[in-house]
Amino acid sequence: MKKVLIIGAGGVGRVVAHKCCQMADAFGEVWMASRTKSKCDAIAAELGGKLKTERVNADNPAETAGLIRRIGADILVNVALPYQDLSLMDACLEAGIPYIDTANYEPPDVPKFEYKWQWAYQDRFKEAGIPAVLGSGFDPGVTNMYCAFAQKHLFDEINYVDILDCNAGDHGLPFATNFNPEINIREITANGRYWEDGRWISTKPLEMRTDFDYPEVGVRPSYLLYHEELESLSKNLRGLKRIRFWMTFSDKYINHLTVLQNVGMTSIKPIKIKGVEIEPLEFLKAVLPDPASLGPLTKGKTNIGCIFDGYKNGERKKYYIYNVCVHEECYAETNSQAVSYTTGVPAACAARMLALGLWKGAGVFNMEQLDPDPFLDAVSNFGLPYKVEELDPNCNYNLPQ
Ligand code: NDP
Repeated sequence: MKKVLIIGAGGVGRVVAHKCCQMADAFGEVWMASRTKSKCDAIAAELGGKLKTERVNADNPAETAGLIRRIGADILVNVALPYQDLSLMDACLEAGIPYIDTANYEPPDVPKFEYKWQWAYQDRFKEAGIPAVLGSGFDPGVTNMYCAFAQKHLFDEINYVDILDCNAGDHGLPFATNFNPEINIREITANGRYWEDGRWISTKPLEMRTDFDYPEVGVRPSYLLYHEELESLSKNLRGLKRIRFWMTFSDKYINHLTVLQNVGMTSIKPIKIKGVEIEPLEFLKAVLPDPASLGPLTKGKTNIGCIFDGYKNGERKKYYIYNVCVHEECYAETNSQAVSYTTGVPAACAARMLALGLWKGAGVFNMEQLDPDPFLDAVSNFGLPYKVEELDPNCNYNLPQ
């Protein structure tokens, strides 16, 4: 039986805690540590004392390594913020235990989505004989595993991939982001980018739009964004010619965001007010609703999946693999809405893979480099079942060619 240590007590952390506590066959003890211990304690209260809690500053590797040793943790799941990725990787190396996260490292002052800082840890994790599993949320995470599954079972070569992320949940508020607002807004206000024929093609923020018909949801405006899994998938899929990522945003959401951007509220350049330096985006985050508070308000479904186009035994094939998740059901089970749920379930399942020895190996791994079969089984059993639909290879389903 393994001891898992969850770092971060936000919406995602709450789901990871609930799910790890449901995995009594894998985890003898489940721990959560975060900057604000009272948030961990509130989650522990929901779980009837199955969760043990601590306070930690995850920016300090020595402090985290000390905590790991003190409680005897075997696996660390980082669901704090991307800023903590490197210091938590350092802590895992110092204490000699596997590392899992759901989002790539970002330097606090430069909004970039790149794996280079974490890939630079490859030799250190190999030498230490332990794995670091990067990006085990839904996207990145499950979407990477849909790709690995398609490559393993459905195709000899995958030429085109479109990742489609739809959140059709409605919280009834004029404007709120459904996960950490700072990360969310940084993602949307950045230039779009996709990979085609070996090179990256940039688009202006929200320049490319398509109205895609999502199963069980309906037609939704979807915008081309850069998303971090494109970087690793463009390297790890056989025969790939193009990979793109689309996310839905309602017209209301885009209007609010446009105004906020136009008045400078999404900037991360510090300004001085009454002698205090503050980033406008940080201030905006403070005045927006806490994503965790959206749980009881949000109704509707998410649909996230991938459309693959390629060849099997010389024949052209097209498949759509996706999951549909219902906000209200997620909240009833874990007190978190579907965006946190779809991220937390895969993070807990990655920890399960390592605890049960279903994934082995040393080094830094993106998800698609690991076996998708036991992982997708676990993710299905713990709340995120997937559908595999064969599509007409000659139809473009309203996706620009
Ligand atoms: P929240 O902001 O709700 O929670 C983050 C938690 O981390 C908070 O409890 C916060 O503490 C804690 N934390 C922040 N800094 C530190 C620190 N230095 N030391 C200790 N704890 C710290 O975020 P979410 O739960 O919404 O998201 C968690 C992660 O999941 C993020 O990295 C996000 O990017 C990622 N994500 C990934 C997705 C995917 O599909 N791959 C989708 C959605 C999110 P405090 O309470 O004190 O502020």
